[in-house]
Amino acid sequence: MLTGHCLCGRISYRLDQDIERIIFCHCEKCRRATGTAFNSAALIDADKFTLLSGKESIKSFSSSPGVHRLFCGECGSPLYSARDAQPQSYRLRIGTLDTPINPEEKIHIFVASKAAWETLCDDYPKHDASF
Ligand SMILES: [Zn+2]
Ligand SMILES: [Zn+2]
Repeated sequence: MLTGHCLCGRISYRLDQDIERIIFCHCEKCRRATGTAFNSAALIDADKFTLLSGKESIKSFSSSPGVHRLFCGECGSPLYSARDAQPQSYRLRIGTLDTPINPEEKIHIFVASKAAWETLCDDYPKHDASF
């Protein structure tokens, strides 16, 4: 079991599955949503994710039709995204985890959209767009 929480602590959650792959997304929307070079996420099963507190503080922004980015309305922490076309999955923002994880598999996506000032210095697979 993994747990996590937002910056202010109002929202906390539990995840009843392991994370086997981390996805670093460098697309323009993820850069804006995080305010930094890339978004670090993991594809998780929606039914393995349980909100423990703070449901009333969750806000959602649709960055594209059918794509919802959920975040804490108090502190602004991005928590996960959900897609209407893929209701069984969430994309968890793994920087909010309490539990240390370090899966072997990590990939970069939308590298073609990365910020000009960002230098990628690892050997993980890199995809120009999605994968
Ligand atoms: Zn918060
Ligand atoms: Zn992205």
